[in-house]
This record gives sequence, structure tokens and C-alpha cells, in this order.
Amino acid sequence: MEELLRNADLALYRAKDEGGGEHCTYEPSLHASAEERRQLEFSLRRAIQNNELVLNFQPVVDANTEKVLSFEALLRWHSKDHGFVSPAKFIPLAEDTRLIVPIGSWVLEQACKEATHWPDDVRIAVNVSGEQLIEPEFPSTVVRALANSGLDAKRLEIEVTESIFVRDASVARAALEQVMALGCTVALDDFGTGYSSLGYLRKLRFSTIKVDRSFVEGAAKQNAESLAIIRAVVAMADSLEMSTTAEGVETEEQLELIRKLGCKKIQGYFFGRPMPSAEAREIFRLEQMRSA
Ligand code: C2E
Ligand code: CA
Ligand code: CA
Repeated sequence: MEELLRNADLALYRAKDEGGGEHCTYEPSLHASAEERRQLEFSLRRAIQNNELVLNFQPVVDANTEKVLSFEALLRWHSKDHGFVSPAKFIPLAEDTRLIVPIGSWVLEQACKEATHWPDDVRIAVNVSGEQLIEPEFPSTVVRALANSGLDAKRLEIEVTESIFVRDASVARAALEQVMALGCTVALDDFGTGYSSLGYLRKLRFSTIKVDRSFVEGAAKQNAESLAIIRAVVAMADSLEMSTTAEGVETEEQLELIRKLGCKKIQGYFFGRPMPSAEAREIFRLEQMRSA
């Protein structure tokens, strides 16, 4: 009886995952993937205490001068039970289970601390999920990370996606306004991939719009829609006094194109992959030696 109910439940979850309005029958593979998820969640709960999480940092450069303006903090999980797990897998799991709340605070703390080892004009960008924003504690988590590290609030940028405006929009917006009042800036990530409602751009004073990697790739292949979308985003950002970052620039050819299209900042493997903290610090040490 119990097994029958459990299996029916798994099929129900599958139907819901596929957007509802759908019939699904139980298959043994559903049990296997639910079991894998359960084990992953069990390990993720212990990842912070077990020191399995680490931040990597990817440079964002000025499109014209190629100077490093900031780094984006990107989370890595080396699980002792599961090996390296991709963020594409564990971040959604952390969001579903709300584990993203303690993990996200840890990320904020670590990222702010790391940035104090860089020159004063280099900023740190931290990804924040909707689940974190709707926690009443979120603004105080930011205050604590800034206070503990001594980092100037102006050097912290919060990256959010449009998905935060879908559920609990007013709560998320109020939380972001509070951190903006501290002096932090907010960037709109993955622009163009989700709802891309222009209305969202009016809801908050974003400092930067990040153009998703898929458009950079498309534009380089002369895809007319991708080119049109990048042009439109750049024009819109310019008139709203927001900056633009092109994500996922991998080749010189893409770089030239993106420059011509007028994006202000560039992030991608061409200028640097996400790297361990020591490598990021090394960039500045070498810069200093060269200028000395
Ligand atoms: P994202 O915020 O859009 O981060 C950019 C992703 O693009 C990163 O993937 C980065 O490694 C990848 N990338 C950068 N340049 C290139 C390039 O030139 N070519 C290609 N192919 N890829 C490039 P990553 O590190 O796997 O992160 C995936 C996603 O996981 C992130 O997407 C973000 O949504 C999420 N994530 C990562 N760290 C955190 C975190 O600390 N908190 C939250 N809430 N989400 C995070
Ligand atoms: Ca991001
Ligand atoms: Ca992105």
C-alpha cells in the first residue's frame, strides 16, 4: 500500500514538473532519480560544515580598455560522496529545498571577504536567488557580510534574474531597494532568456543588464534575431542610463562584434574562466609589478 502511494506520488510530481495538465504513469526510473536527489540533498545539507563549497571568480572587463572592473563569484561544490557536482544541478536543488538561504549567506560572506584583497576600484558580483530575497533576513545578511569584511557597499553588486518578479515581486523588490539604500548595485542577469518583460526594467534601478550568452553566440553566427536583440538591449540600457555586460565571449571574433554592438563590459572565457581566489589575486599582483 505504502509503495503504491509513493509511486503514485512520484508520478504526480513528474506531472507537476511538466507544467501540470498532464498525465504521467509511474516508471522505476522516477524512483531512481528521486533517490539520487534525496542523496544529493542529504550531502548538500552538510556541504558547508564539511568545507566542500568553494567560490571561483570570473573577471568582467571594460569592453574598450580591457581593464578588470569586477569579478563574479561562482559557487563550486566538490562533494566527498558525489564528486564534482555542477551548479546547474545543485543550485536548483538548493532553491527547492531552501538550502540556498544558508548557502547564499555563506557565499555573500566569502565573496565580500575575498574582494578586500583586491584593489579598491574592483567590484564583486554575487548571484542571489529569489528564495533568498523573500527571506526577511536578507538585508541584514548583506549588512553582516559587509560589516564582517569591512567591504565598502559600493563594491558589492547583487545579480538577480527576472524570475524574482514572478512570485512575491513586491517582497523581492523591497529587499533589493533596502540593499540599494546601503550603496550596493543590482544587475539583471540572463536578460533575454526568460520573460523579458520591459516592465521589469522600470521596477528597479538596475545598474547593469547582462546579455545572455546565447545571444552572443547567435550574433557571432550572424543570426539576425540575436543581433537585433543585442542592439535593442544596448539602446534601451543606454537611454535608461544602465550599463550592459555581454556574457560568454569566447573568441576574438565575438569580442570584436560585441564591441561594435556597443556593450560596455565583457565576461567570458576569452578574458578568463572562473578561477580560484589565488589566481584572481595574482592578476593584480602582476599588474602592480608591471606598473611599478
Ligand atoms: P550565471 O549567473 O549566468 O553565471 C555565468 C555562467 O556562465 C557560469 O556558469 C560561467 O562559468 C559560465 N560562463 C562564463 N563565461 C563563459 C563562456 O565564455 N563560455 C561558456 N560556455 N560559459 C561561460 P556556472 O559557474 O556553471 O554557473 C551556472 C549558474 O549557477 C550561474 O549562471 C548561476 O545562475 C548559478 N550560480 C552559480 N553560483 C551561484 C551562487 O553563488 N548563488 C546562486 N544563487 N546561483 C549561483
Ligand atoms: Ca550571474
Ligand atoms: Ca548569466
